[in-house]
Amino acid sequence: MDLNRVAVVGAGTMGNGIAHVFAQSGCDVRLIDVSQEIIERGLATIRRNMDRQIKKEKLTTDGRDAALDRIDTSTDVGAIDGAELIVEAIAEKPDLKFDLFREMDAVAGQGVILATNTSSISITEIAAQTKRPESVIGMHFMNPVPVMPLVEIVRALQTSDETVATVVAATKSLGKTPVEVNDSPGFVSNRVLMPMINEACFCVMEGVAEPEAVDDVMKLGMNHPIGPLALADLIGLDVCLDILEVLHRGFGDDKYRPCPLLRKMVAAGRLGNKSGQGFYAYS
Ligand code: NAD
Repeated sequence: MDLNRVAVVGAGTMGNGIAHVFAQSGCDVRLIDVSQEIIERGLATIRRNMDRQIKKEKLTTDGRDAALDRIDTSTDVGAIDGAELIVEAIAEKPDLKFDLFREMDAVAGQGVILATNTSSISITEIAAQTKRPESVIGMHFMNPVPVMPLVEIVRALQTSDETVATVVAATKSLGKTPVEVNDSPGFVSNRVLMPMINEACFCVMEGVAEPEAVDDVMKLGMNHPIGPLALADLIGLDVCLDILEVLHRGFGDDKYRPCPLLRKMVAAGRLGNKSGQGFYAYS
């Protein structure tokens, strides 16, 4: 089934990227967030990222203008009505997502797929909030969305084969590579990545090394394109903390306990790139 109308709920770091790639692939996109100001910021980011693609000759100005024209916006979740696929990308808080899925379930047409971009929250529990658990699935895009080829497709216990097939095809139509995994805290991506980021935070907290040195070790010694602390800043330190909390709670294993320095930085509002200060300063 070809998808022509997609709604994205949440216009932050991930939501604006998801709207960007769907619009660029030819879909009409409705981008929804709680305030027009946040939406405008999301649209400005999309335009900026498309301009970057133009400079790299990956997009034409006509292509950009056509893609931007395909995006309309709303501050009302009711505006998901009419979409054939809905992708949720709001904050990584279970209760917020559960409330939103109940609300979306009441509005979305019968059989419409409700996908979540959650990094770690149980898709099975999210699906259980709805009367269409077989049509709920994880569609876990990577940051920055227009650049990263992977989408981790996360199957809840209740997800139907038909839903998986539709979302796999939609992912391919974006030029991205779907990798299917089963629902488990952090899935594969964050179960492997977050303990590394957390240990990097402990290294800084314990005075083992400065952030630059930690990142240099991983870049130059392990061939990582970006160090774990710069990556944490890019993801958002609040998002990293939320994911670690889900891993810690989900497995009941203290190896996932969030580093106290990470907690302290989030409490101080040092969230990484998006706030201008994290392990590094950003202008
Ligand atoms: P963000 O804080 O940048 O954006 C979240 C947006 O959701 C905000 O603009 C907020 O106003 C909006 N929002 C909150 N409640 C809402 C509601 N009820 N209705 C509509 N909009 C609402 O967060 P983000 O980094 O984009 O993360 C979004 C999701 O994507 C999270 O589940 C996160 O775990 C996941 N994710 C993040 C990354 C990353 O690198 N940041 C990578 C993969 C997945």
